[in-house]
Amino acid sequence: MVRTESELRQEIVEIGRWIHRLGFVAAYDGNISARLDNYRILSTPTTISKGMMAPDDLVVVDYEGKKISGRRNVTSEIAMHLLVYRRRSDVQAVVHAHPPTATGYAAAGLSLNKALVSEVVLSLGCIPLAGYGTPGTPELTEALAPLVNSYDALLMANHGVVTYGGDLMQAYFRMETVEHFAKISLVTELLGRQVLLSETDVDKLLAARQKYFGSGARSIERSASCPISDGVRAEPEKIHVSAEELAELVSEAVRKIGGKTRC
Ligand SMILES: [Zn+2]
Repeated sequence: MVRTESELRQEIVEIGRWIHRLGFVAAYDGNISARLDNYRILSTPTTISKGMMAPDDLVVVDYEGKKISGRRNVTSEIAMHLLVYRRRSDVQAVVHAHPPTATGYAAAGLSLNKALVSEVVLSLGCIPLAGYGTPGTPELTEALAPLVNSYDALLMANHGVVTYGGDLMQAYFRMETVEHFAKISLVTELLGRQVLLSETDVDKLLAARQKYFGSGARSIERSASCPISDGVRAEPEKIHVSAEELAELVSEAVRKIGGKTRC
């Protein structure tokens, strides 16, 4: 369904409220945009809370990021949005936020690339981690560029998350999925146990994408790094300790257990 500019403005304002209410952004963080046509993009402006916007706060920019209309200033992160629109003709909307759990993974240098939840494999394949780039500079877009064509959601090292899709709701829902999956992944880390889906199950899920998302669904190729199934096992890490160090480790463990027992 084709949206009018006024409907898109309303939808961006609404999604801004949601990402703010969910704690995906703080203060002036984050930005949301939608393609108006082949010449113009509608975007949230700089220095405004995404939870407190009105439809006429938004700005219209061209594909070089130059303002065409709007009384507010253009966000310095517009280049990230432009990169996605230029590289992905199927994308109509982009959402960028800093949801705490997923951003925690990005700040820990970890991607969300394990086949832990079937729905996430089905919808996103996996969420890779793009290298760090200073916000508002070409460094940031250079780090994202190699991944934009292959994935619909990216973690940005030491920064946040960017998601995109065929409309604003899809881009927003992908942001929700990334943060939800980050929380689930964190729980498995806390439990100290992760049971990955098998290679066969991952292949079945990726093949089923068209059935669930229609003929427009992009095909996601499973690679060694994304999503990681139980068919790809890391070599067990080998450590070397001297006899003295081993004896010290054992007696330390015994001391700890003894301490716990007395409590
Ligand atoms: Zn940001």
